[in-house]
Formats: sequence, C-alpha cells, structure tokens
Amino acid sequence: MGDVSKAAKVDLVVVGGGLVGLMAALKLSHATRTKGLTLGLVAPKTGSSDPRTTAMLMPSINMLEELEVWDAIKPRTAPLKTMRLIDGSKRLVRAPVTDFRSSEMDLEAFGYNVPNADMITLLEEKIADINSIVRFDGRVEEALCETGKVTLKLDDGTFVESQLAVAADGRNSILRDCAGIDVKKWSYPQTALVLTFKHSLPHDHVSAEFHTETGPFTQVPLPAKPDAPNRSSLVWVATPEEAQNFLNWKTNKLEQYIENKLQSCFGKIEIKTDLHDIPLSGMTAKSFGQNGVALVGESGHVFPPIGAQGFNLGLRDVSELAKLIDHKDLASNTLLANYTRKRSTDVALRTAGVDVMNRSLLTDFLPVQIARTMGISALGNISWLRKLAMHSGLGNGLSGALPSPASLMEKGQAAVNRSR
Ligand SMILES: Cc1cc2nc3c(=O)[nH]c(=O)nc-3n(C[C@H](O)[C@H](O)[C@H](O)COP(=O)(O)OP(=O)(O)OC[C@H]3O[C@@H](n4cnc5c(N)ncnc54)[C@H](O)[C@@H]3O)c2cc1C
Repeated sequence: MGDVSKAAKVDLVVVGGGLVGLMAALKLSHATRTKGLTLGLVAPKTGSSDPRTTAMLMPSINMLEELEVWDAIKPRTAPLKTMRLIDGSKRLVRAPVTDFRSSEMDLEAFGYNVPNADMITLLEEKIADINSIVRFDGRVEEALCETGKVTLKLDDGTFVESQLAVAADGRNSILRDCAGIDVKKWSYPQTALVLTFKHSLPHDHVSAEFHTETGPFTQVPLPAKPDAPNRSSLVWVATPEEAQNFLNWKTNKLEQYIENKLQSCFGKIEIKTDLHDIPLSGMTAKSFGQNGVALVGESGHVFPPIGAQGFNLGLRDVSELAKLIDHKDLASNTLLANYTRKRSTDVALRTAGVDVMNRSLLTDFLPVQIARTMGISALGNISWLRKLAMHSGLGNGLSGALPSPASLMEKGQAAVNRSR
C-alpha cells in the first residue's frame, strides 16, 4: 500500500458522496461532536450529474429538519399528496384505480420529490460550513480493513486512517470487499428509464404509478420552474431490448408514447432532459458491518425503484448507526455485530416486498395476477388495510398502524352500546 506513516488520522470516516454518504456525514457530525470524536469525509467533488429524482418519505424529511437542511431543500421539492395506483396492463384481470391520500393519515404530504443533483449540491454546501468535518476530495483506491483500524489510500496519494469506516460508496463498494463482506446478487430482465418532462395539465401533487406488463411506469411531481409551471419526473421500467429501442427514438415519438402511457392524465408532454437508462439488479450484503467497516445505502442493499424505498432505507441505516456510535466504543466488536442485527430485518423485509411487487408485475401466471389485483382492490376498499399499507409504506414499520388492544376494546364497547 505504500508509506502510511504520514496518514491523516480521524476517528470515523465516511466514504462516498452520494445522497446517503452526504447525509451520513451530516448526521454523524452531530454524534461525533457530542462524543469529541473527529470525522472525515472521502468524496470526490465533481458536481452531481445524477439524472434521478428521489421521493423522500416523512422519516427522511424529519432527519433533514433535525440536521437543519430542510429549509434550504424544501423549495426544490414537490409535495406528494396523493399516490395513485393504475393497472396499465392489457391483462384479463385488472385492478381498479386506487388512490392513497395523505389527508387520510392527517398528513400534509406522504413525502417530497427532489432532483438528486439539487439535493447533492445543497448537502455539499451545508457540509462545507461544518468545520468539524475533515474533507478529502479523492477516491479510495486501496484499503486495509480490520476491527479498530481502517487504512485508506486515495487516488491523489493521500492516506487516511480511522477506527471505523462508513461505506457509502455505492453498489460496487470497495470498502465492502475490503471488509470481506459477501453479497447475494440477482438480476432482473428490466432497465429503468428516467427523464423529466413538462406537461400542460397540473399534477395536483399526485404521483401516478401505472403498472404495466414490463414493470411500473411512474410519474412523480416536481416543483414549478418559471419556464415550466407543471413538471414531473418519470421512472419507467422496460425490458432491456425495449429500452435500447426507446433510446434511439426521436423526441416527438417518445413524447407521444409517454402521453399515451400516462393515459393523457397530464395533458401534452414536452421532454426536458435526456433519456437515461439504468439496468436493474438486486443485491443484499450478508452482513452490514465487520472488520472496521459499516455499510450504509447501496453498498448494503440494492433493489428496483418501486415505492420509493432505496434512499429512505439508506437513511434508516444511517440513523441506526448514529445511535450505536452514541453508545458504543468505535473499535468494539459489538458495535458492528449490533448494527448488522438491527438492520437485517428492515432490509430483508423491504427487499422482499419490492421483489414480490416487481415479479408479480412481470408474471403472466393468472393466479398471481388475480392475487395482485385482489390485493390492490382490498387496499382500495378496506380502510384499516389501507392505513396499514400507508403507514408501512412511509417507513414507519407496521406496529404503529395497528389499533392498540385498548382502542379495539373501546370500539367494541361502543358498538355494543350502539346495538342496545
Ligand atoms: C431510477 C431510480 C429511481 C429511484 N428513486 C428513488 C426514490 O424515489 N426514493 C428512494 O428512496 N430511492 C430511490 N431510488 C434508490 C436511490 O436512488 C438509491 O438508494 C440511493 O441513491 C443510493 O445512494 P447511495 O449514496 O447509497 O449510493 P450512490 O448514489 O451510488 O453513491 C455512491 C457514491 O460513492 C462514490 N464512490 C464510489 N466508489 C468510491 C470510492 N472508491 N471512493 C470514494 N467515493 C466512491 C460515488 O462516486 C457516489 O458518489 C431510485 C433508484 C433508481 C435507480
């Protein structure tokens, strides 16, 4: 690895400047300041060209508020007040249109949609104002990982040494390999296509997810711009062959296709960005931390973009890690073992949920189509099931959505009284 004697020393280092890495640096800067620890961030300052937008759910918004960045980010977001599921397939059995309204949960919005590039710029600005974060602008080229000591060699020749490294370096994480963490990987016969577009009719803060035979076709509202009062982003999943085809289409042909797919709900479409393709795959790490490395975000889990889960799940990793760092010694074996234990169920449940939803869209097997249709119909009609789904979809887990035994007894007693 070379001469590490002049390595810069920090107690904790975050590697990766994507959305999760920057949020991790901000969150951990609070935790480390209260414990008197030093924090490094290794992330090349390249300016983001990430074409995606991210729907952030309320627990993520709460974290942004707590980190005092929400006021700067909010004007760049659009609130998501209604989530609409539309069966856009041509199958024999189709589900009815189902709306979930945030007002049913007494919420102003389910979440907020933000362009990734805008959010990365704003988070970078906030980080630059925090003196306690030591910034290294390079990329990690080589790493040595053991409990209590991680040594990084950056591409500009700098060495960084730390007791614990937080791997936010994405799905091909160099730190995950360094820690010897194995992964389970799988692929989908799908490619995500993303773009943003202007439309003639207002979105009214509705996000519409059209379920098609090849995967979801999802419009998500964006905030108005002076030249585009009605704007949305589109994430649309197609087969790799179809995706290749679409990439070669002329803009006006693509605009007409999108307008038809969206059943003209948003009026005339004008595409505002290039069409980007992202092949879909899945991955789960077999441990979320060992040998001095904790995995957060896509270094630990990857799945298709259905139901706005990936980034939100990544922030729950960050939140759990921050709690453990508050209470445990960074170099202790138990910190990473506890972290893995605490994150495993949440990651497994979200990964399985998204996988089942995605595969049920792809299948031609009639019983699965009927089950999916009945599931969506039930969500539309049964109020407690709707609330349970909304609560769980918001990243709150299931328990808070279920009525407590006391409230059930109260309701039962009220029903008995009414029948007397
Ligand atoms: C089309 C699409 C739409 C999505 N929409 C949503 C949504 O609406 N809501 C939601 O919650 N999730 C969504 N997701 C998922 C979400 O985008 C990801 O979960 C999230 O962006 C992952 O962030 P990350 O920081 O972990 O990884 P990344 O964004 O991949 O960032 C990793 C960073 O690490 C850096 N890096 C890599 N290697 C090194 C190295 N050796 N040294 C230093 N730095 C390194 C990279 O340059 C990069 O900046 C979507 C995903 C897709 C594909």
